[in-house]
Amino acid sequence: SDSPKLDFIREIIAGDLASGKHETTITRFPPEPNGYLHIGHAKSICLNFGIAQEHPGARCHLRFDDTNPEKEETEYVESIKTDVKWLGFEWGDNLYYASNYFDFYYESAIHLIKNGKAYVDHQTSEEMRANRGNLTVPGTPSPYRDRSVEENLDLFARMKAGEFQEGECILRAKIDMASPNLNLRDPALYRILHAEHHNTGDAWHIYPMYDFAHPLEDALEHITHSLCTLEFENHRPLYDWFIDNCPVPSKPRQIEFARLNLTYTVMSKRKLLQLVKENHVSGWDDPRMPTISGIRRRGYTPEAVRNFCKRVGITKYNGTTDVALLEYEVRDHLNKVAPRRMAVLEPLKLVLTNWPDGHEEDVEVVNNPENPEEGTRRIALTREVWIEREDFMEDPPKKFFRLGPERHVRLRGGYIVKCTGYEKADDGTITEVRAEFLPGTMGADTPEGVVCKAAIHWVSATHGVDAEVRLYDRLFTVEDPDGEEGGFLSVINPDALKTVAAKVEPAAADVEAGFRCQFERTGYFIADAKDHVPGTKVVYNRTVPLRDSWAK
Ligand code: ATP
Ligand code: MG
Ligand code: MG
Repeated sequence: SDSPKLDFIREIIAGDLASGKHETTITRFPPEPNGYLHIGHAKSICLNFGIAQEHPGARCHLRFDDTNPEKEETEYVESIKTDVKWLGFEWGDNLYYASNYFDFYYESAIHLIKNGKAYVDHQTSEEMRANRGNLTVPGTPSPYRDRSVEENLDLFARMKAGEFQEGECILRAKIDMASPNLNLRDPALYRILHAEHHNTGDAWHIYPMYDFAHPLEDALEHITHSLCTLEFENHRPLYDWFIDNCPVPSKPRQIEFARLNLTYTVMSKRKLLQLVKENHVSGWDDPRMPTISGIRRRGYTPEAVRNFCKRVGITKYNGTTDVALLEYEVRDHLNKVAPRRMAVLEPLKLVLTNWPDGHEEDVEVVNNPENPEEGTRRIALTREVWIEREDFMEDPPKKFFRLGPERHVRLRGGYIVKCTGYEKADDGTITEVRAEFLPGTMGADTPEGVVCKAAIHWVSATHGVDAEVRLYDRLFTVEDPDGEEGGFLSVINPDALKTVAAKVEPAAADVEAGFRCQFERTGYFIADAKDHVPGTKVVYNRTVPLRDSWAK
């Protein structure tokens, strides 16, 4: 059949719907609001929200996992909402905050204590670590493990009331100190933190551990399939233990998939925060960052990111994806939708000496060869134009088909010109090129006897507009910055941002911020969201060059 093969998670879900285990599917995307989302999160967003689009009645919750009282900022909450929407997904009425469930976690802990399945432990954290054992040595039960239910209830109530210092005691589940799975050796449920919480203020002195809170959050929201990354595979028995032993209203199932890793970047929030805080980049939305806000500002499209996630697929195998694949998807999409414009990044003046002074002639060029409906536009050709410095060579090799003494080239959309001379500064820099245009060659074939094998882009010196163009490249010089001995900061690419003073045609200057186009023969660009002012201060970011210059 034509239907694409389902990934293993979608297969499980299809099976659960077919068997009648579930009537529909409810997934969730649960970011902790302690940083901006990155391209790895996009994989999880596309998976969870994608599945919700595929079944009648299905939905995906956006849940802020804000049970940590550590600083969680509204700035992060807002950025996460913006990013999910930008990727093309909607949570509708299903926006949740895990901190709204604090009472339920607490009741569940009481429930466990009453059933003899949780106890307050006064060991120091060092003692607990030592008594946990390891893969070959079973754990040693805590001397506090067999306290009575009454004593535990009393101590836990006093923990809640703030009667103990941080670290003085914790509440632990009573599971199995000899389990081969270390996560089941009486894991912590609650720790004492005398901290302010953005939602609940100073109401609580105890905060639930992630492993305890997460399954309860899922169950409360009637999540059917709780999708997480492979690191949590070993935590699944614990997830199931909480679901089986707490008074939950539903039984979600945890399924793990491989996280996305990309070459030439880092993706842990801690490291991204460090890049921001230490000013290695200009902010979370710096176009060099792998954050959603960074790649958005760089000009990547949501379609390209979604296509990329689809291409990477959902598997159980951890690996690292070549960033070139993401760049390929960006080019592939922009090639179809980005209008073409002419911009000269390293301007060199070309004077047409046989062109009448003050004379202007309109040249007609195609807006997008991939989409005839976008039509054509007219650009005024003038006596003086800017061409790309690298399109002229004083002493070109035979295979160079652009300008050189006595050589011909076509000005894109316009006339064939023949180079008749050039000026040079004392330091050897070419300062001006002179040429004569060949009358009758606009829109016409190359005349007999003339060798002209290329067309170059150009911008009228009379009408061209100054622009600041930011040429972005990969943030790191090595594929795996995390694996670097000197740390990831030691391999930051100093050339990841180069700014050039360019000349652009008027139709690339009078555009809104966020306007995307292809600068012919150069790459894809976007008018910067923050610094570009239409027609006045033109600022472009390079999204991706036309060709992969990193290809081996
Ligand atoms: P970090 O380690 O960068 O802080 P995190 O996993 O702690 O990331 P969360 O805010 O908790 O960040 O992530 C929200 C969701 O996104 C989680 O369900 C997590 O599994 C998923 N996620 C995070 N990073 C990736 C990734 N690289 N690939 C796929 N999914 C990811
Ligand atoms: Mg997390
Ligand atoms: Mg984290």
